[in-house]
Amino acid sequence: ADEPPVVELDNAEIVYDRTFLAVQGVSMSADRGDIVALLGPNGAGKSTILKMISGIGRSERGEVTRGSVYYEGDEVTNAKTNEMVDRNVTHILEGRRVFEDLTVEENLRCGLYRGGRRIRYSKSDYDIAFEYFPKLEELLDVEAGYCSGGEQQMLVIARALIHRPNLLLLDEPSLGLAPKLVVDIYETLREINREEDITMIIADQNAKETLEVADYGYVLENGQVELHDPADVLMDREEIKEFYLGTSSEE
Ligand code: ADP
Ligand code: MG
Repeated sequence: ADEPPVVELDNAEIVYDRTFLAVQGVSMSADRGDIVALLGPNGAGKSTILKMISGIGRSERGEVTRGSVYYEGDEVTNAKTNEMVDRNVTHILEGRRVFEDLTVEENLRCGLYRGGRRIRYSKSDYDIAFEYFPKLEELLDVEAGYCSGGEQQMLVIARALIHRPNLLLLDEPSLGLAPKLVVDIYETLREINREEDITMIIADQNAKETLEVADYGYVLENGQVELHDPADVLMDREEIKEFYLGTSSEE
């Protein structure tokens, strides 16, 4: 009962180009087994926060100027991406980064490697991918570049699952997908979260669908947390209805 949150940010701040404060005094946490939604408009700092956790691009941008990031109770504020990967943190970047010239099968196979080392060895390693995305099994020999946006999104999630993450960070998984597909992807993520006990932090501008499946939500603006609450509470707040759910809340 006293286990630390999977992720905790304490007054975290990021400066880009030595001057631009992209993340300001952000404190947040993700408890084991939760889906946490990071919401807010373009430029709010969502992707930057995910990168602070996974360490991706850390050396290319400013340092964390203040505050700390913890993973499973250990400070990882300046940890390298490799270390986080070794600790089963998997970050799905924005934009469905598949290898377009490789087949779906070859893309999935990449999920079997960590830092150049193969981590798993049998055909059954793909079972977890096909369990949640049976469609991929039919597409195994198709070049990923020919797959639809929805199929590519399934592929990047499936590839991440093969890594057997403890913490999965997802950046804009619904961007550019048809509404029906967004619902499908989110329902599948919820199922994965429950069945596989994978903690998730999902950055998405799509507040409605994300909050439907999230346990807790943070709304960011200009690098700061504007609102945070359990997802069901957040969904009912006027500010959210007005600015993020738009007319869809009146359906
Ligand atoms: P979001 O994911 O919410 O759209 P980001 O975290 O990508 O927001 O960006 C937050 C702010 O930081 C934005 O104003 C963005 O332009 C800026 N930013 C992001 N990456 C960099 C970078 N590598 N160098 C300078 N500024 C950046
Ligand atoms: Mg972003």
